[in-house]
Amino acid sequence: MRDADLLRRTLGRIDGRGYKAYKDIQGVYDFPGYTLFVDHVQGDPFAAPSRLRVRVPAARAGFPAELFSVDVRRVAVEDYLTRAFAAAISRFARGHRGSGKSGIIAVDRPGQEILERTSAVVTESWVEIRFVMGLPAAGRRVLGQEAVRMFYDELPRIVEAALLYRSLDAAALRRHVDVAEDQEHLRGQLREMGLVAFVADGAVLPRESGVSDRPLRGPKVVPFRSPAELRVTVRLPHAGEVTGMGVPAGVTLIVGGGYHGKSTLLRALERGIYNHIPGDGRELVVTVQDAVKIRAEDGRRVEQVDISPFINNLPGGQDTRAFSTEQASGSTSQAANIIEALELGAGVLLLDEDTSATNFMIRDRRMQELVAKSREPITPFIDKVGQLYRERGVSTILVVGGSGDYFDVADTVIMMDNYVPQDVTARAREIAKRFGQGRQAEGGGSFGPVTPRSPLGESLNPRRGRREKVKIAARGLHTITFGSENIDLSAVEQLVDESQTRTIGDALYYAATRYFDSRTTLREALEKVMGDIRRGGLDVLSPFRGQNPGDYAMVRIFELGAAVNRLRSLKVRQRHEG
Ligand code: ADP
Ligand code: MG
Repeated sequence: MRDADLLRRTLGRIDGRGYKAYKDIQGVYDFPGYTLFVDHVQGDPFAAPSRLRVRVPAARAGFPAELFSVDVRRVAVEDYLTRAFAAAISRFARGHRGSGKSGIIAVDRPGQEILERTSAVVTESWVEIRFVMGLPAAGRRVLGQEAVRMFYDELPRIVEAALLYRSLDAAALRRHVDVAEDQEHLRGQLREMGLVAFVADGAVLPRESGVSDRPLRGPKVVPFRSPAELRVTVRLPHAGEVTGMGVPAGVTLIVGGGYHGKSTLLRALERGIYNHIPGDGRELVVTVQDAVKIRAEDGRRVEQVDISPFINNLPGGQDTRAFSTEQASGSTSQAANIIEALELGAGVLLLDEDTSATNFMIRDRRMQELVAKSREPITPFIDKVGQLYRERGVSTILVVGGSGDYFDVADTVIMMDNYVPQDVTARAREIAKRFGQGRQAEGGGSFGPVTPRSPLGESLNPRRGRREKVKIAARGLHTITFGSENIDLSAVEQLVDESQTRTIGDALYYAATRYFDSRTTLREALEKVMGDIRRGGLDVLSPFRGQNPGDYAMVRIFELGAAVNRLRSLKVRQRHEG
C-alpha cells in the first residue's frame, strides 16, 4: 500500500500532461482513517468515469454488529450507506468542472426499494463503498490541482459524513434495517398462512405520478383499509402485531368501477416482491417472491415455446407445441409469457385487464355460438386459470372490471370501491348462480404440458464481429445492448432499477459461457447462476472481475429468464420427459 502523499505528488507531477498520464495513479493508498483503491482509471475525460473504492476499518466505522447479523439486515445497512454516500456527495462535492465528466463523483442511486447491491459492502472487518469519479481535465490535459482538491478535500468529507456510524442518524438507520427485516419475515410467513400477498391497513398504494415511484401525498390519499372477511393479523419482529388484507392462494379477482383503484392495488402487489424503504407507503405490502406479472406484448419474439395449453390449430397449421415467431400477436405473446413464467417456476400470476389481450381473457357464450371452437385457436384464460391452481398450485390475481364470467372460476372476489376494498365473494357466487352465463368450458381435462427448453450457448453472441470486444450495456431501465442486438424489456414490469438491467446483461453472458450447453434447461442454468450469486455475491458476474463493479443490483430468476426469452437470436432445444 502506498502513502497517501504519493498520490498528491503524482498528481502534481502529471499536472498539465496528456490525460493518459492519469493511469499512473492506479493503485491503493493509505489515507488517514481509510484505504483508497483507484481500481480503474478512465482513458479519456469523456469516457465512463474512473472506478474507485474507499474502505474504512470496522473499528473506525463503528457499526454495531447486530445491524448486519443476517443477510437482510446487512443488505439494508449497505443500502442505507449508499444513500448516505449519495447525499454526502451532493453536500460536499463541488461537481462538474472541466471537460467531459471532469469533477463528478457518483455512486449508484437506489429508488424506493431496498435491493442487494454491489455499491456498498459491509463485513466484520470493514465497510466499503464503490463509486466513480470523473478525473478532471481541461480539454484532454490533466487538471492535477483540481484532482488534488477532489481527493484531499471533498472525498474525506464525504467519507466522514457517510461511512462512520457516529455521523449517521442512528435511529433512521435502525428503522431502515428493521423495516426491511419485517418485510422479509412477513414474506416468508405468507405461504404457511395460506396467503400469497398481504396489504397492511394504513398502507399508501398510489404513487405520485406515472413517472414517479414516490408515494402520493395530501388529502386525496385514501389509506388502505382491509375488508373484515379478509382481515388477518400478523406478528412482526419489530412492528409487532399488524392487521391487513390477506390475499389467499387460489384464483382472486379484483373488480370494481373504472378509476376505483384496481390497477393501483395490483401494481402494489407486483412490487411486493421487493422490500421498500421507510416512508414509501408500501412497507408492509408484501407478495410471495415467485409472483410474476404477465401481460400481452405483441411484437415480441418467441422461441419454441409450448403454448398448446392456450393456443391450437393456428391458421397455416403452425405447431403450437414448439411455437416460434418473430412477431407474436397480443394473445400468443401473453400465452408465451405465461408458459415461460411457469417454466421458471412462477407460483403466482398477476394480470391486469388494462394490459391483457381481450380474446386471451374471455370468450363469451355468444361468441362461442358464432365462432365454433374448431375455428378459434385460443383457449381463453378463464378456462385455464382453475386448472393452473388445482393441478400446479399456481395462484392468479386478476384485475377484471369487464367480465362477470370470471365469477364462476374465482375463489375470492375483491371489489375496489372508492379505493377501499370489499370482499364480495359471496355476492359474486350468488350472482353467478342466478345469472348463468351459459358458456361451454373449453379448457379440456387438464392444463397441459409446460415443456422445458435448453438454450444453445452459441446463440447468445455479445460481440458485434468475430474479433470485436464483448459489448454488453444497459441503456436505461428497459434496454440491454447485447452484441449487435437490443433486448427490449419494456414489458418486464417487475424490473425497477437500471442496475438490475445491467446485472441481467452481464448475467446472460455469464450463463451463456458456463451453463447454456443445449442440455441444461433454462431454469436449471439460471438457478445455477442464482446459486453462484448467493455464494459469491453479484461480483461473480463481472467481466471486469477484480475491479469491483459498484453498479449491480439483485434480480430474480424471472427477470433473468425474461431477458433470455426476448433475445432475438435465441435458439433452444425442447426437453421432453422420458
Ligand atoms: P382502475 O384500475 O380501477 O381504473 P387505477 O388504479 O388506475 O384505477 O386508479 C385511478 C386513479 O386513482 C389513479 O390516478 C390512482 O393514482 C388513483 N388512486 C388509486 N388508489 C388511490 C388511493 N388509495 N387514494 C388516492 N388515489 C388513488
Ligand atoms: Mg385499471
